[in-house]
Amino acid sequence: MGQLLSRAIAAAVALGFAAGSAAAQTDYPQRAITLIVPFAAGGPTDVVARIAADHMTRTLKQPVIIENVVGAGGTTASTRAARAAPDGYTIEMGHMGTHAASVALYPSLAYKPDADFAPIGLVAGTPVLIVAKKEFPAKDLKEFVSYVKANVATLNMAHAGVGSVSFTTCLLLNSILGVKPASIPFNGTGPALTALISGQVDYMCDQIVNLVQQVQGGQIKAYAIGTPGSAGRGQQALAALVKSEIARWTPIIKAAGPTD
Ligand code: ASP
Repeated sequence: MGQLLSRAIAAAVALGFAAGSAAAQTDYPQRAITLIVPFAAGGPTDVVARIAADHMTRTLKQPVIIENVVGAGGTTASTRAARAAPDGYTIEMGHMGTHAASVALYPSLAYKPDADFAPIGLVAGTPVLIVAKKEFPAKDLKEFVSYVKANVATLNMAHAGVGSVSFTTCLLLNSILGVKPASIPFNGTGPALTALISGQVDYMCDQIVNLVQQVQGGQIKAYAIGTPGSAGRGQQALAALVKSEIARWTPIIKAAGPTD
């Protein structure tokens, strides 16, 4: 199981995307840039985007303003980004969920990740952790697996909406275990983590970015980690990565069966 999990989670990279392919002018940027974050503040995508925005503000000498647009596992924000003027002043922090898994999960997705967006750069490749509330009885991954299988009827799993990385990676985990816990959507795993810490939800799969402190502090338990693979640089390599991630996730999601 470990191998399959980490191979699939290798897709959990964050990608920076621009709507359209403009912004090639040498005098760019002349005004503020909006960076759309498709999940709630305080989650991994938001944290990574804020670090990138801070750096971009200093190097581009124009403000890069974060706009959190939540809903539908990141696809509401991505639809908005796809429809924005292709002038380089509205960009999005997309990732494997919004720009790959969503294709299989939303048959009438309003955008085509590989056609309606131009990749700008790979911002981060983040490992994904399986984490549970601190009261969770399992001591290690083996016990986690047996406990979840035996008690699934009473368990619930948090995620950031259908199409998000947290949803998709736990969908894969659950399908490997052959379980369907109650699924509790949040607008991002920032709020989901708060619910996990307070014991309102049982477990989730999420990018490691804002989990380390809580695991180390004993507020939540971690059971397994999947690490992302490497990706090439440059627009062509990134465009190829988007296509390969769509091709990788579509059969995995189909094999996992209905998602509700
Ligand atoms: N963890 C992400 C966030 O809230 C969402 C996701 O699971 O894709 O930033």
